[in-house]
Amino acid sequence: MLPDQLNSRRLPADFNRQYHALAGLDTREFLSWVFAPHKPFGEVGVVTSFGTESAVLLHLIADVAPAAPVIFIDTGFHFEETLAYRDELTHYLGLQSVRTVGLDPLSEKRSDSARRLHLEHPDACCQLRKVKVLAHALRDYDGWVSGQKRYQSRERSKIDRVEWDRARGKWKFNPLADWGTPDLLRYQTQHKMPAHPLASAGYLSVGCSPCTTPVKSGEDMRAGRWRQHEKLECGLHRPAGLIVATRG
Ligand code: SF4
Repeated sequence: MLPDQLNSRRLPADFNRQYHALAGLDTREFLSWVFAPHKPFGEVGVVTSFGTESAVLLHLIADVAPAAPVIFIDTGFHFEETLAYRDELTHYLGLQSVRTVGLDPLSEKRSDSARRLHLEHPDACCQLRKVKVLAHALRDYDGWVSGQKRYQSRERSKIDRVEWDRARGKWKFNPLADWGTPDLLRYQTQHKMPAHPLASAGYLSVGCSPCTTPVKSGEDMRAGRWRQHEKLECGLHRPAGLIVATRG
Protein backbone atom coordinates (compact mmCIF):
# COMPACT_ATOMS: atom_id res chain seq x y z
CA MET A 1 0.00 0.00 0.00
CA LEU A 2 1.39 3.39 -0.94
CA PRO A 3 1.35 6.52 1.18
CA ASP A 4 -1.41 8.23 -0.79
CA GLN A 5 -3.77 5.39 0.13
CA LEU A 6 -3.32 6.08 3.79
CA ASN A 7 -5.31 8.14 6.16
CA SER A 8 -2.81 10.97 6.30
CA ARG A 9 -4.41 12.48 9.38
CA ARG A 10 -3.15 9.56 11.37
CA LEU A 11 0.21 8.93 9.76
CA PRO A 12 2.93 10.76 11.71
CA ALA A 13 4.56 13.52 9.69
CA ASP A 14 7.98 12.12 10.55
CA PHE A 15 7.22 8.54 9.53
CA ASN A 16 9.60 8.39 6.57
CA ARG A 17 12.37 10.20 8.43
CA GLN A 18 12.15 7.84 11.39
CA TYR A 19 11.84 4.82 9.12
CA HIS A 20 15.09 5.62 7.38
CA ALA A 21 16.83 6.63 10.61
CA LEU A 22 16.15 3.15 11.98
CA ALA A 23 16.97 1.32 8.74
CA GLY A 24 20.73 0.95 9.21
CA LEU A 25 20.71 -0.01 12.87
CA ASP A 26 21.31 -3.47 14.25
CA THR A 27 18.62 -4.93 16.50
CA ARG A 28 20.04 -3.64 19.77
CA GLU A 29 20.60 -0.13 18.37
CA PHE A 30 17.13 -0.22 16.84
CA LEU A 31 15.51 -0.97 20.21
CA SER A 32 17.71 1.56 21.98
CA TRP A 33 16.36 4.22 19.64
CA VAL A 34 12.75 3.09 20.00
CA PHE A 35 13.09 3.31 23.80
CA ALA A 36 15.45 6.29 23.88
CA PRO A 37 14.93 8.54 26.94
CA HIS A 38 13.56 11.38 24.83
CA LYS A 39 10.82 9.03 23.54
CA PRO A 40 11.02 9.68 19.78
CA PHE A 41 7.89 7.54 19.28
CA GLY A 42 6.04 8.49 22.46
CA GLU A 43 4.98 5.71 24.82
CA VAL A 44 5.81 2.29 23.41
CA GLY A 45 4.88 -1.10 24.87
CA VAL A 46 6.17 -4.58 24.08
CA VAL A 47 3.57 -7.24 23.36
CA THR A 48 4.61 -10.83 23.96
CA SER A 49 2.99 -14.24 24.21
CA PHE A 50 5.81 -15.74 26.29
CA GLY A 51 5.91 -18.40 23.60
CA THR A 52 8.76 -20.53 22.32
CA GLU A 53 10.47 -17.63 20.53
CA SER A 54 9.74 -14.80 22.94
CA ALA A 55 12.91 -14.99 25.00
CA VAL A 56 15.27 -13.30 22.51
CA LEU A 57 13.21 -10.14 22.15
CA LEU A 58 12.62 -9.97 25.89
CA HIS A 59 16.34 -10.43 26.58
CA LEU A 60 17.11 -7.51 24.28
CA ILE A 61 14.41 -5.41 25.96
CA ALA A 62 15.80 -6.26 29.40
CA ASP A 63 19.19 -5.14 28.14
CA VAL A 64 18.23 -1.78 26.60
CA ALA A 65 15.03 -0.82 28.44
CA PRO A 66 14.28 -3.10 31.43
CA ALA A 67 11.50 -0.81 32.65
CA ALA A 68 9.67 -0.86 29.30
CA PRO A 69 6.07 -2.03 29.68
CA VAL A 70 5.72 -5.65 28.58
CA ILE A 71 2.13 -6.67 27.86
CA PHE A 72 0.98 -10.29 28.07
CA ILE A 73 -2.58 -11.15 27.05
CA ASP A 74 -3.99 -13.83 29.30
CA THR A 75 -6.87 -15.36 27.35
CA GLY A 76 -7.76 -17.71 30.18
CA PHE A 77 -6.82 -20.64 27.94
CA HIS A 78 -3.05 -20.66 28.22
CA PHE A 79 -1.05 -23.75 29.07
CA GLU A 80 0.13 -23.83 32.67
CA GLU A 81 3.62 -24.09 31.20
CA THR A 82 3.26 -20.72 29.47
CA LEU A 83 2.19 -18.98 32.68
CA ALA A 84 5.10 -20.57 34.53
CA TYR A 85 7.46 -19.52 31.72
CA ARG A 86 6.17 -15.95 31.94
CA ASP A 87 7.10 -15.87 35.62
CA GLU A 88 10.43 -17.60 35.08
CA LEU A 89 11.56 -15.32 32.24
CA THR A 90 10.37 -12.19 34.02
CA HIS A 91 12.48 -13.07 37.01
CA TYR A 92 15.45 -14.36 35.01
CA LEU A 93 15.64 -11.29 32.78
CA GLY A 94 14.78 -8.74 35.44
CA LEU A 95 11.89 -7.26 33.48
CA GLN A 96 10.45 -4.55 35.67
CA SER A 97 7.03 -3.95 34.19
CA VAL A 98 5.28 -7.07 32.93
CA ARG A 99 1.56 -6.46 32.75
CA THR A 100 -0.88 -9.31 32.34
CA VAL A 101 -4.13 -8.17 30.76
CA GLY A 102 -7.29 -10.08 29.97
CA LEU A 103 -11.00 -10.06 29.40
CA ASP A 104 -12.99 -8.84 32.37
CA PRO A 105 -15.32 -11.48 33.87
CA LEU A 106 -18.46 -9.51 33.06
CA SER A 107 -17.60 -9.27 29.35
CA GLU A 108 -16.78 -12.96 29.30
CA LYS A 109 -20.08 -13.82 30.94
CA ARG A 110 -21.94 -11.64 28.46
CA SER A 111 -20.15 -12.88 25.32
CA ASP A 112 -19.07 -16.46 26.03
CA SER A 113 -20.31 -17.64 29.40
CA ALA A 114 -19.82 -21.31 28.48
CA ARG A 115 -16.27 -20.63 27.25
CA ARG A 116 -16.91 -22.67 24.12
CA LEU A 117 -16.64 -19.97 21.49
CA HIS A 118 -13.24 -21.24 20.33
CA LEU A 119 -14.77 -24.56 19.25
CA GLU A 120 -17.02 -23.19 16.52
CA HIS A 121 -16.01 -19.57 16.11
CA PRO A 122 -12.30 -19.17 16.78
CA ASP A 123 -12.16 -15.82 14.98
CA ALA A 124 -14.79 -14.42 17.31
CA CYS A 125 -13.02 -15.93 20.30
CA CYS A 126 -9.67 -14.37 19.33
CA GLN A 127 -11.42 -11.09 18.65
CA LEU A 128 -12.96 -11.16 22.13
CA ARG A 129 -10.04 -12.49 24.13
CA LYS A 130 -7.07 -11.08 22.23
CA VAL A 131 -7.84 -8.29 19.77
CA LYS A 132 -10.23 -6.30 21.98
CA VAL A 133 -8.08 -6.85 25.04
CA LEU A 134 -4.98 -5.61 23.22
CA ALA A 135 -6.85 -2.60 21.85
CA HIS A 136 -7.80 -1.69 25.40
CA ALA A 137 -4.30 -2.34 26.75
CA LEU A 138 -2.70 -0.19 24.05
CA ARG A 139 -5.09 2.72 24.39
CA ASP A 140 -2.52 4.89 26.17
CA TYR A 141 0.40 3.91 23.94
CA ASP A 142 1.69 5.49 20.76
CA GLY A 143 3.33 2.34 19.49
CA TRP A 144 4.05 -1.30 20.17
CA VAL A 145 6.81 -3.81 19.62
CA SER A 146 6.11 -7.32 18.40
CA GLY A 147 8.34 -10.38 18.07
CA GLN A 148 7.16 -11.33 14.59
CA LYS A 149 9.67 -12.67 12.07
CA ARG A 150 9.34 -12.98 8.32
CA TYR A 151 10.32 -16.63 8.19
CA GLN A 152 7.49 -17.72 10.48
CA SER A 153 4.80 -17.96 7.80
CA ARG A 154 3.68 -16.77 4.40
CA GLU A 155 1.39 -14.24 6.08
CA ARG A 156 4.38 -12.71 7.89
CA SER A 157 6.84 -12.87 5.02
CA LYS A 158 6.41 -9.22 4.05
CA ILE A 159 6.55 -7.53 7.43
CA ASP A 160 8.90 -4.59 7.87
CA ARG A 161 10.89 -3.59 10.95
CA VAL A 162 9.01 -0.29 11.11
CA GLU A 163 5.33 -0.15 10.23
CA TRP A 164 2.35 2.05 10.75
CA ASP A 165 -0.44 0.07 12.40
CA ARG A 166 -3.17 1.85 10.53
CA ALA A 167 -6.04 0.02 12.21
CA ARG A 168 -4.91 1.17 15.63
CA GLY A 169 -3.21 4.42 14.61
CA LYS A 170 0.09 3.45 16.24
CA TRP A 171 3.70 2.78 15.40
CA LYS A 172 4.49 -0.89 15.14
CA PHE A 173 8.01 -2.26 15.43
CA ASN A 174 9.14 -5.75 14.44
CA PRO A 175 12.82 -5.59 15.45
CA LEU A 176 13.39 -9.29 14.74
CA ALA A 177 11.70 -9.28 11.33
CA ASP A 178 14.82 -10.44 9.52
CA TRP A 179 16.02 -12.96 12.13
CA GLY A 180 15.94 -16.66 11.26
CA THR A 181 15.91 -19.80 13.39
CA PRO A 182 19.74 -20.11 13.43
CA ASP A 183 20.05 -16.50 14.67
CA LEU A 184 17.55 -17.14 17.45
CA LEU A 185 19.16 -20.41 18.53
CA ARG A 186 22.62 -18.87 18.50
CA TYR A 187 21.43 -15.97 20.66
CA GLN A 188 19.58 -18.23 23.08
CA THR A 189 22.58 -20.51 23.48
CA GLN A 190 25.02 -17.64 23.84
CA HIS A 191 22.95 -16.12 26.62
CA LYS A 192 22.00 -19.45 28.24
CA MET A 193 18.34 -18.60 28.15
CA PRO A 194 15.62 -20.88 29.53
CA ALA A 195 13.43 -22.49 26.87
CA HIS A 196 9.64 -22.69 26.91
CA PRO A 197 8.81 -25.98 28.69
CA LEU A 198 6.75 -27.20 25.71
CA ALA A 199 9.38 -26.51 23.04
CA SER A 200 11.02 -29.90 23.50
CA ALA A 201 7.63 -31.59 23.03
CA GLY A 202 7.26 -30.28 19.47
CA TYR A 203 5.31 -27.11 20.14
CA LEU A 204 7.17 -24.76 17.82
CA SER A 205 4.53 -22.07 18.27
CA VAL A 206 2.49 -21.94 21.46
CA GLY A 207 -0.87 -20.24 21.80
CA CYS A 208 -3.98 -21.19 23.76
CA SER A 209 -4.16 -24.82 24.82
CA PRO A 210 -7.40 -25.76 22.98
CA CYS A 211 -6.03 -24.32 19.73
CA THR A 212 -2.42 -25.53 19.79
CA THR A 213 -0.94 -28.90 18.90
CA PRO A 214 2.65 -30.03 18.37
CA VAL A 215 4.13 -29.58 14.90
CA LYS A 216 5.08 -32.64 12.88
CA SER A 217 8.35 -33.01 11.03
CA GLY A 218 8.38 -30.92 7.83
CA GLU A 219 5.42 -28.78 8.78
CA ASP A 220 5.34 -25.00 8.93
CA MET A 221 6.18 -23.84 12.46
CA ARG A 222 2.66 -22.45 12.90
CA ALA A 223 0.94 -25.54 11.51
CA GLY A 224 -0.03 -26.63 15.01
CA ARG A 225 -2.18 -23.58 15.58
CA TRP A 226 -5.97 -23.89 14.92
CA ARG A 227 -5.34 -27.21 13.19
CA GLN A 228 -9.07 -27.94 12.83
CA HIS A 229 -9.78 -24.61 11.17
CA GLU A 230 -8.73 -22.54 8.17
CA LYS A 231 -7.51 -19.87 10.56
CA LEU A 232 -3.82 -18.84 10.39
CA GLU A 233 -3.54 -15.75 12.59
CA CYS A 234 -5.29 -14.55 15.72
CA GLY A 235 -5.96 -11.07 14.34
CA LEU A 236 -3.53 -9.09 16.49
CA HIS A 237 -1.28 -8.59 13.48
CA ARG A 238 -2.89 -6.90 10.55
CA PRO A 239 -1.15 -6.21 7.23
CA ALA A 240 1.12 -3.19 7.46
CA GLY A 241 -0.47 0.13 6.69
CA LEU A 242 2.56 1.41 4.90
CA ILE A 243 5.51 0.34 2.86
CA VAL A 244 7.90 3.22 2.55
CA ALA A 245 8.77 3.61 -1.11
CA THR A 246 10.83 6.77 -1.11
CA ARG A 247 13.61 8.29 0.92
CA GLY A 248 12.22 10.88 3.23
S1 SF4 B 1 -6.38 -19.03 20.34
FE1 SF4 B 1 -8.27 -20.25 20.63
S2 SF4 B 1 -8.85 -20.08 22.79
FE2 SF4 B 1 -7.27 -18.52 22.34
S3 SF4 B 1 -8.44 -16.69 21.95
FE3 SF4 B 1 -8.06 -17.65 19.95
S4 SF4 B 1 -9.77 -19.08 19.55
FE4 SF4 B 1 -9.86 -18.43 21.73
